[in-house]
Order: sequence, then C-alpha cells, then structure tokens
Amino acid sequence: MPHISRRRFLGGVAATTAAAGVAAATGFSRVGATTAPAPLPVTEENRRVVIIGSGFGGSVAALRLAQAGVPVLLLERGIRWPTGPNADTFSHMYSPDKRCAWLSTSPTLTSTPPAVFDRYPGVIDRVHGDGLDIICGAGVGGGSLVYHGMTLEPTEPLFAEVLPQLDYAPMHRTYYPRVASMLRPATIPDDVLNSKQYLSNQIFIDHITAAGLTPSRIPMPINWDYARAELAGVMKPAYTTGDVTYGVNNGGKHSLDVTYLAAAEATGRLEIATLHVVQDVALNAQGKWVVSANQINTGGDTVAQKVITADAVFMGAGVAGTTRLLMKAQGKGTIPDLPDSLGTQVGTNGDRIYAWVNIPQNTGALQGGPACIGVKDWANPSQAITVVHGPVPVPIESHIMTIIGFGVTPVRGSFQYDSATDDAVVHYPHDTETVLNQAIHDKILQITGSTIGVLIDTTETDPTTFHPLGGAPLGSVTDLYGRVQGHRGLYVMDGSLIPGSAGACNPSMTIAAVAERNIEKIVHTDVGSVF
Ligand SMILES: Cc1cc2nc3c(=O)[nH]c(=O)nc-3n(C[C@H](O)[C@H](O)[C@H](O)COP(=O)(O)OP(=O)(O)OC[C@H]3O[C@@H](n4cnc5c(N)ncnc54)[C@H](O)[C@@H]3O)c2cc1C
Repeated sequence: MPHISRRRFLGGVAATTAAAGVAAATGFSRVGATTAPAPLPVTEENRRVVIIGSGFGGSVAALRLAQAGVPVLLLERGIRWPTGPNADTFSHMYSPDKRCAWLSTSPTLTSTPPAVFDRYPGVIDRVHGDGLDIICGAGVGGGSLVYHGMTLEPTEPLFAEVLPQLDYAPMHRTYYPRVASMLRPATIPDDVLNSKQYLSNQIFIDHITAAGLTPSRIPMPINWDYARAELAGVMKPAYTTGDVTYGVNNGGKHSLDVTYLAAAEATGRLEIATLHVVQDVALNAQGKWVVSANQINTGGDTVAQKVITADAVFMGAGVAGTTRLLMKAQGKGTIPDLPDSLGTQVGTNGDRIYAWVNIPQNTGALQGGPACIGVKDWANPSQAITVVHGPVPVPIESHIMTIIGFGVTPVRGSFQYDSATDDAVVHYPHDTETVLNQAIHDKILQITGSTIGVLIDTTETDPTTFHPLGGAPLGSVTDLYGRVQGHRGLYVMDGSLIPGSAGACNPSMTIAAVAERNIEKIVHTDVGSVF
C-alpha cells in the first residue's frame, strides 16, 4: 500500500471543531481562550494498519503484526516515560505534580495529597461516568506504566465463569505462557519481603495465616534486584517506599514500553506517534477505515490534525477509549450497522479498595510495594475472591494499610451515547455488586479481625475502578477473535472484549493472553487478504 502524505491548513470553524473534539475526547476544555484560533495543519495519509492505543491489547497486536511483516502505525495520546536507575521520570505519590494526571490541573486519584498544577499529558486519566469513574493509564505502554503489576491467570473454572465462549486449554498451554515469557513475572524474594520496609506486608501475612487462610505471593513483572539495590542504598527508593502508582522511576518493571513495544520497534516496522488523540473512526465509501486524530502539545492544545486512511484498524484504547470511539461512530452513523450490544457488559472486576485505619501496631512509614501479597480464595468459582494489600506511601507512621478485593462481578454497566456532547458515558447501577461487596468485606474482616482497627470502604464514597472491562464483548460485538461483526478490517484487541470480570484475577494477564490468541488467528487468516 503506497503511503501518501498531503498537508493543508484548516482555520476558523474547522480549527475550533478540532479543539472542541479534543475537549470532548479528553473530558477537559480550555477556559478563557478568546483569541481566534490559528490555522491548523492537516495531514492526510494512507496506511496499511493503524492501532489506536498502546496498552496490553494494542502492544500485543503491534508486536505480532510487525513480526508478521506488516508495517504498523500506532497512535497513542500520551507520551513516552523512559526510566532507569535513579531517574526522576514520574511524579511521586506524596508530592504529586503535573506528570501524575492526564490533562488535569489537579491529581485524579483521591488517595493523593491535593495539588494544583498546569495541564500536562500525565500518566493517569479519570473518565467520569454516572455511578462509576474509570481510572486508566495514558502514555506509551498504557496501564502497564501505572499498574502495580499483579499478574494472575485464572483457573479453568474461573475462566469458564467469565469467558465460557473460549476454550481454556490452549489459553493455559500457549497464550498465558506466551505473555509470561514477555513480562517475566516473579514473586517477591524472602530477603526483600523480610526487610523493615516491607513490615506492612509481613503484618498482612500474619493476619492471613491467623485467619486460617493461605497467603500467596503474587507474580509481578519486576526485576526484584532493583528493590534490593534500593535497600542497599545503590538506587533511590521507589519500590521500597511504595512510590509506584504514578510509575516506577528506577525502572526494573517489565512494562509494555520496554517489552512488547520495544521488541516491535526493533523490527523496524512499528511507528509510534505520541500525543495523537484519536477523535473519530469512520468507514468511507471505498470500504477503507478513516481515523481522525488531533496532535496535541504537552499543554493539551491541538497543534495539528491527521486524517489516516487504512485497510485495517485495531482498537486498543482501553475500555473507556475503544468503547467511546465506537459508540461515537455508531451514534453519528460514521460506521453503519455496528452491533446493538456495543457498550454493554461493562464491569469493574468487582474492584473494591478498603482503608484499614487505626491499627494499633506500627505498620511502617513509606510502606514497600507494589501490592504483591494476597489471598486467592478461589475454591468456589462463582464466589471466588482475591484480596491483596497495597502499600501506603506516606512519609509518617500512619497505622493504616490498604486492602483491595475483587471477584466475579455481575455485568450490568453500559455506555450510552449522547449526541449533545458527542461522547458516550458509562452508567453503573449502584447496587450491581451488593452481594460481591458484602463477600469482599466479610473476607477482609476475616483477615483483619473484627476488633482490630476500622475498615473504610473507599470505593463506596468514591466509586471508581482500576479494572474496567467490557463494552465490546467477545462473541457479541466481535466474533471469537476480536473482529467487529460485519466489518472487515475493524478489530478490538483490549479489555473491552472481556465481559466485566477477569475471573477474580487482576485483568492485564487475561487481556494480553486473549490478545495473543486473537492476533495469532488474525495473522494467519487476515494478513494478505483483509490487509
Ligand atoms: C493504578 C492502577 C493499578 C493497576 N494495577 C493492576 C495490576 O496490578 N494488575 C493488573 O492486571 N491490572 C492492573 N490495573 C489494570 C490494568 O492497567 C488494565 O486492566 C490494563 O492496562 C487494560 O489494558 P488495555 O489494553 O485494555 O488498555 P490500556 O492499558 O488502558 O491502554 C489503552 C491505551 O490507549 C490510549 N488511548 C486511549 N484513548 C485514546 C485515544 N482516543 N487516542 C489515542 N490513544 C488513546 C491510552 O493512553 C492507553 O495508552 C491497574 C490499573 C491502574 C489504573
């Protein structure tokens, strides 16, 4: 496919529309901008394949397509975050700055101290909804930049609870191991766990054992030698002070930018365009896909527009990104006949965050992390729960620990498109997880002991999820390989495919394993015929 690139300039109304587009896409707008907008350059080009978003689904697709000889353009709204020993790449948890939040003037996580700063394409976005806000990563590597990295594979019965349309055996035999070979998960070693920085984890283990449950070290995509180097004073603290949720400054984390994407770029066939916020995806009269993106600067202002015509588009913008883009296309009719089930089967993975406060014993200042100790209470698949401890990275003895639970949740959330705002918003019934919430609460209470400290359900007062799933469910909106029904060359690769729950496991491993499965099939059957 020849690559044609043309430039022209857009001013007046069109430029204003582009700026409004980025505001709609990001949920933010400039206040007080009164001067006439300068003309915006517009670039038109043809590509064989465009991937939107560089999270788990997008990165897996990028690597496997590039390895199959297919040139790929990946559009990512965020920036690159290069780390290394003693780097100062990311914002710190206890002194947040503009790098912590996506085009916001204050932190988007309520667990962070308050701050005011300039807009910047920071690493965490908060997508507001009705009854639920979605918290997600933004940048090259998507959620892997900010995730703690808990990497769990569900058992066969748990997998069947949430993805009965897929055969577990090949997933277990081939695709989960394929992901593991790239992300290299490892459990926390004894010497790190037994250090004084990891006191809160030791307390958690003691409580789990006293409750008659079995503690579990959760596999993490981490080179634990970095934590050792921090303990030895060779590297500035990051892991060992729990300063991880805005990214790990030292590196040593096998995030997607240094694994899948680095390998894809090494083929010479992947081009990543950062600071490109996709606004719309459409089907043209020739049956090609047209992707419109605003190129922004680090202040969030649109500086150029791109219109890219492609043979194939892979949606990897995460649940909030992918589902909203497809629903915009459905609402405006720019992609006709999208399945009616688009936007449905949205769930939170049951994600519930508790603060355990007023603990009498010391729990340690700047608790070591990431969250890597838990309980897998999976005996009954339909009521399976995982409970983990997350570090509290405050620089004083707080007598607080964070405890997170999740399980197999009902999938009653949905996105709905509003033509007035040209955006789709997630709606989440408040009582969706009443039974699961109670079960998570009871399990955590069993661990903490009912007379020690006080448990506060922070998700009740701030309904958010780090684990959004669904919106373009596999076998419904798409076929069983992520091809959008009735639309040759349009694919969904990310968490939108998984209906609401990852089987009482953190979702990244299953998102990546399903993406590995699907892209293998697509490379065999669609490369050379569809694109
Ligand atoms: C703080 C935190 C901790 C977490 N901890 C864990 C954990 O320990 N284990 C685990 O398994 N999961 C964890 N998760 C969840 C995990 O990060 C997500 O499930 C996973 O990243 C989702 O993968 P994805 O491929 O669906 O999309 P994402 O990883 O969300 O990637 C989507 C990408 O698309 C980009 N994008 C979005 N919209 C556009 C657009 N319009 N134009 C261009 N680009 C766009 C985004 O910037 C992003 O890079 C955590 C999440 C958070 C926020």
